[in-house]
Amino acid sequence: MEQREQIVSLGKGTSTSEGGKKPELFRLNSEYRYAIAIDIGAEYLVGAITNFSCELIGEPIYKNATEATYEETVQMIYEIVEMLLRTSEAATESICGITLGCDGIVDMDKGIISCSAHKKTWAKNLKIRKDVAEKLKKLDLNCEVYVDNGCRYIGFADLLCTDTRQYQCIATIYTTKEFLGGSIIQKGHLLKSANGFMGEFGHNIIDPKSKVRCECGNYGCLEALVSEKNLIQILNEKRVQYPDSIFNTSDLEADMEHIFAAAMEKDVLAGKILSESAEYFAISIHNMMMMFDPEMVIIQGEYARAGEDFLHEICKRVTQLNVFGLDRIPHISLSKVRNTEDLLKGYAYFSILNYIAEKEPYR
Ligand SMILES: [Zn+2]
Repeated sequence: MEQREQIVSLGKGTSTSEGGKKPELFRLNSEYRYAIAIDIGAEYLVGAITNFSCELIGEPIYKNATEATYEETVQMIYEIVEMLLRTSEAATESICGITLGCDGIVDMDKGIISCSAHKKTWAKNLKIRKDVAEKLKKLDLNCEVYVDNGCRYIGFADLLCTDTRQYQCIATIYTTKEFLGGSIIQKGHLLKSANGFMGEFGHNIIDPKSKVRCECGNYGCLEALVSEKNLIQILNEKRVQYPDSIFNTSDLEADMEHIFAAAMEKDVLAGKILSESAEYFAISIHNMMMMFDPEMVIIQGEYARAGEDFLHEICKRVTQLNVFGLDRIPHISLSKVRNTEDLLKGYAYFSILNYIAEKEPYR
């Protein structure tokens, strides 16, 4: 194993208090391989390169992609990879994987964007893995190109935190102001998906009689119910009942951030709104338990900032929904991952784990 330089020796350690042979100590060789991570967002593309320990080498590279066509996006991906290789001075043969994360429905096995959520002008069923691999031929890379909904890769960002290591099956729910997606990660690997819907918790129908319409065309989806737009809608409907709320006594803008902050300051109206959101998350987590029975559920993104009261409310409601009075619920937590750099580390970690599993299964 050491011959391949995946790990390096740190020499002899000290014996235990009972004595015995001194242990040989090793650490992962950070320079063994490198991984490239690219997020294809609605407004920009951002790419970064990490070493084998998932540490970023240099600054992420951003490219404006607001109006970009699909073809222009593929070209920008090539330019980012080329620039990352040049600036990091990582050898092309040391790249173990390139991870492309986008939005919408993605067939990860075929490497096809079935339907982009943000890029309304893009065609359906775009063979992005094939197109990017074709473009990258010029760079003489010999590595896998992975494509999936970015929410799945973001799940891996929390796997880098030590407090998740004890759990074998983890469900992650990534939230933005408008969108919600996630992943089911079992023993470090994404659960396979037949049609690209695995982890699309945003489209769990929580309330089929709801009048809140989702982007997907259905009513009462989790994504639509917990979106910023719906929080503001609920606030405007209920505000007359709470004259003492900060949203009535000041000109504070009604947005997600201020609703979270007001709830933390015990504003009753904000608390009611978040409690409604907690109910929707709890129903979704309950349904998730009946399908995948995860040991841990991590809420990432915007709602990770919603505060401890919000988390307690979810745990309370999931417990109340428990079947047959069995007091068994997953460990539910709010993610500590905050910035783009850390999310990209999740992308990189996905390809590093795949590389280890596929190329070097002896580990
Ligand atoms: Zn939906």
